[in-house]
Amino acid sequence: MVWDYKHEPFTDFTKEENRREFKQALELVKGELGKEYPLIIGGERVMTDDKIVSENPSNKKEIVGYVSKATKEHAEQAMQQAQKAFKEWKKWKPEARANVLFRAAGIVRRRKHEFSSYLAYEAGKPWKEADADTAEAIDFMEYYGRQIIRFKDGVTINSREQLEENRYTYLPLGVGVTISPWNFAFAIMAGTTVGPMVCGNTVLLKPASTTPVVAYKFMEVLEEAGMPAGVVNFIPGSGSEIGDYLVDHPKTSFVNFTGSKDVGVRIYERAAKVQPGQIWLKRVAIEMGGKDTIVVDSDSNIEVAVESIIYSAFGFSGQKCSACSRAVIHEDVYDEVLDKVAKRADELTVGTPEDHENFMGPVNDQAAFDKIMSYIDIGNEEGKLVAGGKGDNTEGYFIRPTVIADVDPEARLMQEEIFGPVVAFTKAKNFQEALDIANNTEYGLTGGVISNNRAHLEQAREEFHVGNLYFNRGCTGAIVGYQPFGGFNMSGTDSKAGGPDYLLQFMQPKTVSDQF
Ligand code: GLU
Repeated sequence: MVWDYKHEPFTDFTKEENRREFKQALELVKGELGKEYPLIIGGERVMTDDKIVSENPSNKKEIVGYVSKATKEHAEQAMQQAQKAFKEWKKWKPEARANVLFRAAGIVRRRKHEFSSYLAYEAGKPWKEADADTAEAIDFMEYYGRQIIRFKDGVTINSREQLEENRYTYLPLGVGVTISPWNFAFAIMAGTTVGPMVCGNTVLLKPASTTPVVAYKFMEVLEEAGMPAGVVNFIPGSGSEIGDYLVDHPKTSFVNFTGSKDVGVRIYERAAKVQPGQIWLKRVAIEMGGKDTIVVDSDSNIEVAVESIIYSAFGFSGQKCSACSRAVIHEDVYDEVLDKVAKRADELTVGTPEDHENFMGPVNDQAAFDKIMSYIDIGNEEGKLVAGGKGDNTEGYFIRPTVIADVDPEARLMQEEIFGPVVAFTKAKNFQEALDIANNTEYGLTGGVISNNRAHLEQAREEFHVGNLYFNRGCTGAIVGYQPFGGFNMSGTDSKAGGPDYLLQFMQPKTVSDQF
């Protein structure tokens, strides 16, 4: 019997000892930078000539690793190995599969700062953000391990007395494809891989091309924890080449994707097409973007409002699908909140995550830098720049936390996902109008309401149409098993990562009726 699930605590970096240990881990990982990494197909290492070059976004000249790049042929080999491994893995007892995850969680926990340091170098995560990402990866393993044990005997259903015994149990689907994002390069990569895997499926993992090294390090952990060869196969590569190939593949049972709306919609459409030889309909779990709003009411704690907006908009440079990119403020407190947020934004430090003092690191890459800077230009036209607005990509991709005031609710800045440290402010005449503005996007991922008015909070509970709604706090930082995460509308299929139903997406229930 495993002990009850509790989320992994965050490291307290105000303690000198923890800071020292983290610095040591940074040193250790720095010594590992620049290595070559193979694909892993059916447990075999395959080194390719063509490599993905993973650079440090704080220092473009520093290469985190050269990672082998899979072709369609590799993807096909991996599919075959995964099909072979499925035959045995599906027969493993759920408890035994869970044990692989519990052991993997233990290994990562003992090497926590090492993994966080890879995130600092490869994803540009400041210490606190990297630490939370690693903690969340541990949580996914601990939580899904326990979830599969819950489902192992199925669910009790009715049987008619003296006539029959009905049983309802869950079976895995087969081979699936996990396509994971760079922004939670460890947590979401690990969670979207081990969730389906612990159900008895086998997985083809295509990690994001800017963060493949941390994914490779995780593969080593799964192997050390006793995962059989071929259960998870590591095949980084181009989305349009191997991503499409595997999504289209007739033997693919499910696709588990987290990333942009454009790619998510494309995968959804492609996966729907039944290919020659395909004898099932593919399942898809797709988590896409957000255009998330914090509403500040007239009667509210202004300090809580300011801190919530600052942390949700600028934590990890706003590169979270949960990030606050819209602040909708009651007119009575608009000037005060705007003024305080702009001042706080100006005080924030931006620079390499190697230095613990920096609140914000870089953005992901040149493409992200260009996109965010172009939105800042749009913001300058659509509203008034009151903080930040500057970027510097000479060494790394750094952008100052940016606040744009007086933006129309229908403006591009209020409607399109920017995925960077930019927050747009708009004024509302009353609480109802604020909620209406909050709901006026095609997305529906997270939202926050800062208010002392209980009736307003209860109104928001009913009317604010998002998958994750937070009262009197920021709108990022969902915790596995505590705040299951996923969104409505164009934010995705609302798979609720870290939630009680998550694994059901990767299993098929079977009813057996035995007549006596
Ligand atoms: N789960 C994360 C949070 O609550 C966001 C995940 C994402 O950005 O994809 O902040």
